[in-house]
Amino acid sequence: MSVARMLTGDRPTGRLHLGHYVGSIVNRVRLHQRYESFFIIADLHMLTTRNRREDIDQVSRNARDMVTDILAAGVDPARATFYLQSAIPEVGDLNTLLQNLVTVPRLERVPSLKEMARDSGKEEMPYGLLGYPVLQAADILCVKGQVVPVGKDNAAHVEVTREIARRFNHLYGEVFPVPELIPSDTPSLVGTDGQHKMSKSRGNSILLSDDPETVRRTVMGMYTDPNRVRADVPGTVEGNPVFAYHDAFNPDREQVADLKGRYRAGRVGDVEVKEKLVVALNRFLDPIRERRARIEADRGLVDQLIVEGTERTRREVRQTVVEVRRAMGLTGA
Ligand code: ATP
Ligand code: MG
Repeated sequence: MSVARMLTGDRPTGRLHLGHYVGSIVNRVRLHQRYESFFIIADLHMLTTRNRREDIDQVSRNARDMVTDILAAGVDPARATFYLQSAIPEVGDLNTLLQNLVTVPRLERVPSLKEMARDSGKEEMPYGLLGYPVLQAADILCVKGQVVPVGKDNAAHVEVTREIARRFNHLYGEVFPVPELIPSDTPSLVGTDGQHKMSKSRGNSILLSDDPETVRRTVMGMYTDPNRVRADVPGTVEGNPVFAYHDAFNPDREQVADLKGRYRAGRVGDVEVKEKLVVALNRFLDPIRERRARIEADRGLVDQLIVEGTERTRREVRQTVVEVRRAMGLTGA
């Protein structure tokens, strides 16, 4: 294998938002030319928290939207392989072969799984959800991914993958590279509610596909410092989502520093801080909107990328599974 590989992706549960962008997509855009890049549409992972028929029926629409969002964010379609996880049954084979390399208590200590169970309204942990990091290890290792850019909620899963890869290599010989986590500068972006991380399911998102007016409406309705009742009352910048977004998306650092200074001193109103954020966010989103328009005009592009990318990835995964079975001595003889 000559060029190192990157593997990332998302669950096809809806459109991508600013949290996905800062947590992972910004690094995908930055790195995808340097690595051979695989982008998973993780529908089997979706099933761990959403497995009603209505959810599954939305996968193909959501998958197209997701790929469109990633391309609009700046990934070159000629330099990326997109694939649908459930269309590659060999990923399941690898999952089965890897699942004895990690213990139940180790998985029970992964913090994001309990959160996901709770957020999806499950009273008890489904077996598949406990195994989420093992399936993710199969995703990464099936294409021998070496770099994995993810946000905070996914970092512990990549750690499990590293342990599984090392354990496999130790027991059966060097087959897998131990993948490296590419952390984000903003590992967890707060939602517009100022309470929870930005999340599709909580309705506290600003989408990469939102139009300028929607962005304005959302920002003007955002929570700020709850203790600040008037513009001349000194406000708190820390933990204030409006300033978190200024930090992440406003390239005019001087303006941000000036706004923070005046906010702390009680010399600027929420409206001005928000107005400036609307401008910054729409400037950030404008090139994404332009690229989106071009991608949407190219009819059939996204479908073709998913179909061809899935075929290509399936060939890779088949090879890996053969190699794994050989290393383990499972030759069927
Ligand atoms: P959501 O969290 O919106 O419900 P999801 O859990 O389905 O979406 P994932 O597919 O799990 O999203 O996440 C895709 C990537 O985006 C992961 O690397 C994850 O860490 C990152 N990510 C998701 N939300 C945020 C956020 N608010 N801040 C930073 N990174 C995020
Ligand atoms: Mg998540």
